[in-house]
Amino acid sequence: TSTPSKRYTITLLPGDGIGPEVISVATNVLKLAGSLEGIEFKFQEMPVGGAALDLTGVPLPEETLSAAKQSDAVLLGAIGGYAWDKNEKHLKPETGLLQLRAGLKVFANLRPATVLPQLVDASTLKKEVAEGVDLMVVRELTGGIYFGKPRGFGKNENGEEIGFNTEVYATHEIDRIARVAFETARKRHGKLCSVDKANVLEASILWRNRVTAIASEYPDVELSHMYVDNAAMQLVRNPKQFDTIVTNNIFGDILSDEASMITGSIGMLPSASLGESGPGLFEPIHGSAPDIAGQDKANPLATVLSAAMLLKYGLGEEDAAKRIEAAVLDTLSRGYRTGDIHSAGNKLVGCKEMGEEVLKSVESQV
Ligand code: ATP
Ligand code: MG
Repeated sequence: TSTPSKRYTITLLPGDGIGPEVISVATNVLKLAGSLEGIEFKFQEMPVGGAALDLTGVPLPEETLSAAKQSDAVLLGAIGGYAWDKNEKHLKPETGLLQLRAGLKVFANLRPATVLPQLVDASTLKKEVAEGVDLMVVRELTGGIYFGKPRGFGKNENGEEIGFNTEVYATHEIDRIARVAFETARKRHGKLCSVDKANVLEASILWRNRVTAIASEYPDVELSHMYVDNAAMQLVRNPKQFDTIVTNNIFGDILSDEASMITGSIGMLPSASLGESGPGLFEPIHGSAPDIAGQDKANPLATVLSAAMLLKYGLGEEDAAKRIEAAVLDTLSRGYRTGDIHSAGNKLVGCKEMGEEVLKSVESQV
């Protein structure tokens, strides 16, 4: 009825395997939830990963990257598959994903781990421990030991062969991830836990000092610090104590995978990768699942929830994001389940039908 007041261009990168199936569902949900909030989307679909390799010979064509850079947000399906496993490194689909992250300069990776009331039984933890878990890991994505120099192979003083890497963080790298984390905590429940190894590592001492300094800009957020070994333990002992966690690249890699297993359902988990300015990259945490690709079996909800993160963290459209989150909960409450989260007494549906039920839930909202 009302004319759209807000217009956004979204780059869609379906990619490989189940990517196209889940992106198709998420796009329809995004369209409908947006229209109810006066938002109009222009979608531009581009090839990436194995699909791009087959089409153009490279996993991230220049046209795809420039389209992504010029848009307001990027929604990615999944990348990779058996067909390209033997390719050389620069011709691997996954290289396209790394190039995309680098090209968009997304240094902050946000991974929520939420135990939905309807899926408590999927958790690997006891019900009492899992119930009500709702946390977010903010991982630094472009620095630290994965990229630090010097790195390489050499010989030690005894002439023995060594391999080495260096954990390096500069002040500006810590400050900017800290700000993303404080902003994220502010949009959630106002608690931030910074995870480091400041009792052993110099880069962690600087990390702790900078996060503490940045905290003065966010007096409304409650900051705590934890050593990574303790954090790994606390995540399985009492995950409910966490709201937002911020940590470096390698600790975040490990802790975010640990946190995802608390929820137990890989087909449900979204992610966001954000930069300083420019479009964010939003994608499910699962891979291309070639074993079920093209069979209408994939759970599209991780990608649907990634679309909600796109609205919330990418465009600042929180109302439209809430519509999608509420619709996912409603669909699960009405008993619809894809194979990966199915249990007795529920209605087993495919990817498309799950998508249709989510659309119904969006429509039925008042
Ligand atoms: P990648 O290397 O791309 O991360 P992977 O081998 O780690 O891939 P996934 O592709 O994530 O793994 O799949 C792991 C398993 O989980 C597969 O057996 C797949 O069928 C299942 N799976 C992954 N995503 C989904 C989904 N959205 N819906 C249903 N099942 C899924
Ligand atoms: Mg994987």
